[in-house]
This record gives sequence, C-alpha cells and structure tokens, in this order.
Amino acid sequence: MAELVATRGETPTARTLVLDVPGWPGHLAGQHVDVRLTAADGYQASRSYSIASPVDGDRVELTVQAVPAGEVSPYLTGTFAPGDPVELRGPAGGWFVWRDTDAAPALLVAGGSGIVPLMAMIRARAAAGSAAPFRLIYSVRTPGHVFYAEELRRRDRDDAGLSVTFAYTRQAPPDWPGPPRRLGAAELRAHGWAPELAPRCYVCGPTGFVEAVAELLVRLGHDPERVRTERFGATA
Ligand SMILES: Cc1cc2nc3c(=O)[nH]c(=O)nc-3n(C[C@H](O)[C@H](O)[C@H](O)COP(=O)(O)OP(=O)(O)OC[C@H]3O[C@@H](n4cnc5c(N)ncnc54)[C@H](O)[C@@H]3O)c2cc1C
Repeated sequence: MAELVATRGETPTARTLVLDVPGWPGHLAGQHVDVRLTAADGYQASRSYSIASPVDGDRVELTVQAVPAGEVSPYLTGTFAPGDPVELRGPAGGWFVWRDTDAAPALLVAGGSGIVPLMAMIRARAAAGSAAPFRLIYSVRTPGHVFYAEELRRRDRDDAGLSVTFAYTRQAPPDWPGPPRRLGAAELRAHGWAPELAPRCYVCGPTGFVEAVAELLVRLGHDPERVRTERFGATA
C-alpha cells in the first residue's frame, strides 16, 4: 500500500503525485506501476502509470494527465489528497527501460503525457552522472501543455550532453519559426541522431503518435530492434 504525500501541478489538467511506498524495491527508468482503486461498494479499477522519478528510497513519483470522462485519471488528478492510501503494484516492464550502464546515444520522443517515462530516463541519467548523449523531442499541443517545463529548461541548459527540442501541434509560442504541425521526418532528422550512430530510440505517447513516429524512424534508417515503444492508450 502506498500513501500520497504531496502533489505538484504540471499543467491545469495534469499533476505529479509523490507517493511513499514502504519497502519499495527500486526500479529502472521507463518502468511503470499499476494503480488499483477500490470503491466503497468493492468495485475496483486498475490503470498503469509510468514512474517519473529515478530511484529515491521509498519515494515514487507519477504524473497523471486527466482524461475527460475517464474512470481513474480525474480521481487521481482531483480528489486524491495527501494522506490518502492507494494500492500500487510494480515495478513492471522490462523492455522500455534505460540502464545507466548504457553509454549509447539515446533519442527520446514524447507525445503529450508520454514524456513521463522519458523524464525518468533524463533524471536517472543525471543522478548516475552518465555521459550518454541524450536528445529529447517533445511534441505537445501548446506551450501550456508542457510537463516539467522549468526543469526541462534548466536541464537543457545545464545537463551536459542533453538537448531538448519542442514540437507544437496546435499553438506555438509567438517567436516559433513556422506554424504548429505534427511531428514529422524533418524534425526527427534535424533533432534526432543519424541512424549510423546506432542510437537507442524510445518513443512514448498515445497509440497513434507512437506508431507514426516509430514508422518514420524506421523509414529514416533506424534499426527496428533499436526502436522501443510504449503506448499509453487512445489516439490523441
Ligand atoms: C504502460 C502504460 C503507462 C502509462 N503511463 C501513464 C502516465 O505516466 N501518465 C498518464 O497520464 N497516463 C498513463 N497511461 C494511461 C493510463 O493507464 C490510463 O489509460 C489513463 O489515465 C486513462 O484512464 P482513465 O481510467 O481515466 O480513462 P478510461 O475510463 O480508461 O477511458 C476513458 C476514455 O478515454 C480514452 N483514453 C484512455 N486512455 C487514454 C489516454 N492515455 N489518452 C487519451 N485518451 C484515453 C478511452 O478510450 C475512453 O474513451 C499509461 C498507460 C500504459 C499502458
């Protein structure tokens, strides 16, 4: 059983949940947990959430985006309050993970809340003092939809070997060169790694986004074996 100890608003519809999980065994960046809620009448609902934090004792952080009319996410982003217990299982997932012993260049491509496990990788890289070259391409609807905005700005400036690029699909900042549009091959070529460098690619977000980006990466020449994907659910 876990307990919510604090929350942080990321956007008007997403918040980070800081959980205390006594006896937490630790995890790898990219893994997720299953959160199970039980109603007063015994009805249960379970959903997966990626871990946003690197290993930190019994602390585990998740970031949840409220899905309109969803069963679980509006509760976790709204009603769920510090001091409340929640059932948590995990860590789970052994494929969509980054290990701090991996020195290969990494390309991280996030769509919306798909940033969560990729942020865990960026944080784990910093915590381990890893020099693995990292490039993040983060596709969001508008600047107001960016999770971890301040931290990403700071890490882009201060974390040697990390670069962060945004892509806007609905509304770009006023000084942005060009109109908002879907992430395409041009952005992946310009801000990713050349396939010859054999980067490991991690793509996470809504199902449609992940499938489109993974296909583009393979068409650009990346080895499908090195393109790892995590699908969060519905197409954006
Ligand atoms: C491995 C894994 C990791 C995940 N990590 C995260 C995470 O870190 N943060 C996070 O916010 N979510 C994450 N998700 C998605 C999460 O598990 C839920 O699907 C999401 O919170 C919606 O649950 P719900 O009960 O609120 O909505 P539901 O009641 O299940 O669905 C309501 C409606 O919303 C649609 N829908 C379901 N999921 C999504 C979605 N992801 N995006 C848009 N529409 C959707 C459904 O098709 C349905 O029409 C992850 C999913 C997986 C499989």
